Amino acid sequence: MTIQTVDPASEATGVPTISHWIDGRPAQGFDGPTSAVFNPATGALIGRVPRGGAPEVEAAVAAARAAFPAWRDMPLIARSQIFFAYRELVWQHRHDLARLITRDHGKTLPDALSEVTRGLETVEYACGLPVHLAGMNTPNVSTNVDALTLRQPLGVAAGITPFNFPVMVPMWIYPIALACGNTFVWKPSSHTPGAAQLQAELWKEAGLPDGVFNIVYGGREAVDAILEHPDIAALSFVGSTAVGRYVHEVGSRNGKRVGAYTGAKNAMVVLPDADMELAADAAVAAGFGSAGERCMAQTLVIGVGDAGERLLPLILERIDGLKVGPGDEAGTDMGPIYSAEHRAEVIRWIDRGVAEGAELLVDGRPFRHPTQPDGFFLGVSLFDKVTPAMDIYQEEIFGPVLGMVHTNSYAEAVGLINDHKYGNGTAIFTNDGGAARKFELEVDVPMIGVNVPIPVPAGYLSFGGTKNSAFADLQMRGEDGIRFFTKQKEITVRWADPGRRPSLSLVFPGN
Ligand code: NAD
Repeated sequence: MTIQTVDPASEATGVPTISHWIDGRPAQGFDGPTSAVFNPATGALIGRVPRGGAPEVEAAVAAARAAFPAWRDMPLIARSQIFFAYRELVWQHRHDLARLITRDHGKTLPDALSEVTRGLETVEYACGLPVHLAGMNTPNVSTNVDALTLRQPLGVAAGITPFNFPVMVPMWIYPIALACGNTFVWKPSSHTPGAAQLQAELWKEAGLPDGVFNIVYGGREAVDAILEHPDIAALSFVGSTAVGRYVHEVGSRNGKRVGAYTGAKNAMVVLPDADMELAADAAVAAGFGSAGERCMAQTLVIGVGDAGERLLPLILERIDGLKVGPGDEAGTDMGPIYSAEHRAEVIRWIDRGVAEGAELLVDGRPFRHPTQPDGFFLGVSLFDKVTPAMDIYQEEIFGPVLGMVHTNSYAEAVGLINDHKYGNGTAIFTNDGGAARKFELEVDVPMIGVNVPIPVPAGYLSFGGTKNSAFADLQMRGEDGIRFFTKQKEITVRWADPGRRPSLSLVFPGN
């Protein structure tokens, strides 16, 4: 296939501009401001992406609205065959998608490939859509009366997604929305547009009718236009807490169904009986993988008793062996930060931690890459003696900064997690099954790992946080996702026995 990720006209300028994707093709004719796209490993400008607003959202919604009746009415088996074709195409193009993720985001190629395959799990789940959309039929709820439950699509749905998983997070949203029979408008992060465009092209090749899946790029203006548009019935947002709270408030006020899944500050508890080598591997992998730019990263380690003291040398040993470099270079463990601005912000957080009195055991600030001096690189940082009174304990940093907290008891550790304003993921490291079980029951965080540091549930299950990590009544994906993207109808049906008509009665229908 031809990959049309750029507008050919703008190639003449040397810096390609990606187009919105509306009604099954790159949308031309929208002149307006654009944002720069950088390769974070080199610091080079690699493209421009339009900053759409109300006219672009209107065009995308109009295409989605027009495509809705036929998509809704398509026989479920035919709809699911398009999903099977899309699944095959994504699999065939997994390395292309991974390269685009690494180019735009900076994460390592193996990490990007894993992102694609984890996203694909939800596409695979959606292939079984006839089963997921099955309603209930209860015969004989009253004399000659049966009850039916139907699940129907809502109409046009939208998704607004962050920079850090340009494939996996959107794949947690749009397959479910489309499987349920909705049409879709997606607003990806403008930092990582390459993989977005390829996903649209793969849908087209899979046979998805034009207008069912649309992309509008942009920032606040595009988001506001989505929030205000009367024809968008439901909206899934994934991103920072401040923006998610706003999207949830405004979208709900405008009568939309909104699920917003937001920021995090995850902590892993290490009990003194844990396998310390395993726990150290986990802390380093979860804290620094993808440069700490994962909402499920464990950025705090809570050592119980002497666990923290025993863990620190093992963590330091592993940090020594980490290779920071371009994500497409073999052997790289950690790529750059996704933008120059965010790199500066993470450095400000490290400065803050020092000022607050945490002990900086490893300082990533001076790191410079030898051959890519303009890349947005930062080394990893490790703080010891982090306490709940510090901002670096309370706030999300979203960078490669790990903090060690020491507690005297298991109860104190669980209290810390339950008192934290975020609640996305957590983990416990122990060899005591009873302690792990108690943790599962007591901790007020919905996604829990036992000796697993990044407990992202499998793609057929639901995903979502609590407290400031989600503004939503349901989780996304899985059964909750199906519920979110459908409306339910309860139908009460009477078919009297042939020849026997019920007699007139003014009594409230009983049984
Ligand atoms: P972000 O909030 O800056 O951006 C998310 C989306 O909102 C993007 O599409 C962006 O263009 C748009 N946006 C940005 N600023 C806006 C504004 N002022 N008004 C309206 N829209 C705006 O988030 P990000 O930096 O792209 O992603 C990182 C954040 O996402 C972190 O906080 C991370 O924890 C969170 N995240 C959460 C989950 C989860 O499942 N809970 C998953 C991944 C990332």
